[in-house]
Amino acid sequence: MIDPKSVQEVLEVSRVEEVIQDFVNLKRRGVNYIGLCPFHNEKTPSFVVSPAKNIYKCFGCGQAGGPPQFLMEHEHLSFPEAIRQLAKKFGVKIEEKELTPEARQQQQEAESLYLVNQFAKEFYDDKLFNTDIGRSVGLNYFKERGYREETIKKFGLGFSLDSKDALTLAAVNKGYNLELLKKLGLTSQYDRDFFRSRVMFTIHNLSGKVIAFAGRIMVKDVKAPKYVNSPETEIYHKSKVLYGAYFAKQAIRKADECILVEGYTDVISLHQAGIENVVASSGTSLTVQQIKLIKRFTPNVKILYDGDFAGVKAAMRGVDLLLEQDMNVKIVLLPEGEDPDSYLSKVGISSFREYSEQQAKDFIMFKANMLKEEAGHDPIQRSNLIKEIVNSISLIPDPIKRSLYIKECAQIFEVPEQLLVGETNKSVTRKFKRTQQDKEIASRRAERTGEAIPESDVLLPAPSEKRVTSGDEFQERDIVRILMAFGGEVFDEEEKISVAEYILHNLEDVLEDFDNEFFQQIIKEVHQQLEQKQNISDQYFINHENEKISELAIGFLTSPYEFSANWAEKHDIHLSQKPPEQNFSIDSIEALKRFRLKKIINICEKNQEKIKELALQGKDEEVAAHMRVHQKLVEIRRELTDELKTVVPKGYNLR
Ligand SMILES: [Zn+2]
Repeated sequence: MIDPKSVQEVLEVSRVEEVIQDFVNLKRRGVNYIGLCPFHNEKTPSFVVSPAKNIYKCFGCGQAGGPPQFLMEHEHLSFPEAIRQLAKKFGVKIEEKELTPEARQQQQEAESLYLVNQFAKEFYDDKLFNTDIGRSVGLNYFKERGYREETIKKFGLGFSLDSKDALTLAAVNKGYNLELLKKLGLTSQYDRDFFRSRVMFTIHNLSGKVIAFAGRIMVKDVKAPKYVNSPETEIYHKSKVLYGAYFAKQAIRKADECILVEGYTDVISLHQAGIENVVASSGTSLTVQQIKLIKRFTPNVKILYDGDFAGVKAAMRGVDLLLEQDMNVKIVLLPEGEDPDSYLSKVGISSFREYSEQQAKDFIMFKANMLKEEAGHDPIQRSNLIKEIVNSISLIPDPIKRSLYIKECAQIFEVPEQLLVGETNKSVTRKFKRTQQDKEIASRRAERTGEAIPESDVLLPAPSEKRVTSGDEFQERDIVRILMAFGGEVFDEEEKISVAEYILHNLEDVLEDFDNEFFQQIIKEVHQQLEQKQNISDQYFINHENEKISELAIGFLTSPYEFSANWAEKHDIHLSQKPPEQNFSIDSIEALKRFRLKKIINICEKNQEKIKELALQGKDEEVAAHMRVHQKLVEIRRELTDELKTVVPKGYNLR
């Protein structure tokens, strides 16, 4: 492991503009640089590099980060690999350090899960090629589908024997831990192999590691399901994975389009035929996380549907999610009874390409036409279908796109455009009102309890992804925001303390009382860093090894008005607040005091309950002790309320 001090040193000297200039042609624009985004296809530049903040952000596809993130994303490196490359570029000598026993154990656990999976993959692979049954059943199945040997190897296809414990025994004999095999779902709780008599599909994560398997049954057995999958594990979260994404990501970027199909075999067939920008949601219906994964590479999705009507109707629900995420969705309906795999092998690649280009229809138009056919001339049905299409249109965040669709749908349904405009506006207003109501409830609660609403929630409402921020999480989030953005600033010149030190000093006694574990984890980490006399700056969080922490920091630091002067103008957003960099110290004092006040009130309540309980049990001495604590708490509370000049929330009797 690289010594954390070395990591810090590398991050301090790495210049984001110099790193990116090796790959992207950057032009100066005011205090920033601007260029064509290397992560998505674009003709006008929306990729901004800020030397001052040492970060980049693409306003087209959302990619953002510091020097190591750029290398990780662009060169597909791991964090340590990126740090090593930066060290070389900027001439820093790095020291490698031994891991602590706990850290080693944790890292080893995740690593071992991958290793066990990798072993299983090789085992299934071996059985496919090197056993009679594997060749006659498994390999034959793949060959019948036209898969070449190189494709079979590339995608890690395999075969599991009809044996109660062939894999389990082989793994244990090789020294792999039985518990890990069980954790991964490869072995059942009765020490039996989970996958038996199935052709095996390996599921990879974005960096190509084996995270799970799917097995398709090869014997006729009414009881067993056709496909079974590995269970959810530390390294496999079904809703976040798209099958084939590892092999498709480069092609998706290049084509600026992602093709979405249903089955594993569809992905493999198309890939082998040269259509490589293809993924499958593998058995589950499309999730928001999967859509966000696609969005990292392109905003354009083309869905290939089997030509069966009921299936299409069911799948349409997933498409609304895509619209909400501002994706451009096209639909290709295959001839009846065909799936992508079967149709491709029937007509060949060039006809397939031609068909999928000519038949690609915009989703809204497709839905409108389909509903129209279904409704015929029945007036009630027609009015229902107009409602349904209006509902889909109103999900689209972009008003210009919305009005274009309205125009076309009015023609399809032969109704006045104004009618659809009215209906859509109603639907948009209803949705807006719901969001507003949610916000009002939040701000009323904020007034009542003295909570701060973080500006990121006010500025950037995400309609489809309402964050569940409850209780004290608002304030916890705000404290983390101040810590990340201004932790390194000087809080008090005379006493020479930083904002981070001030905040941590004020949080020490309530550190265990956080509602949100993630925020607590961040604060605790900062606590440790400060105790080891490490400085905390925004760069520390931006370049953090933990992707979630880095993402959060970048979100806070690229709030629009900080990043680009004309952002607000361009997007017609009016700011009522001062930019946070102008009042961070007032911000941090207030946020902290409100937070402490809430925590003290909570502790006070708990203490009072304890007093009641102890009094009932007649434990007078302990009651007296808790009363003294109570006095102390009330004092602190009074100081805080005086300073904040806020009213104590109703229902808290603290005399
Ligand atoms: Zn981009």
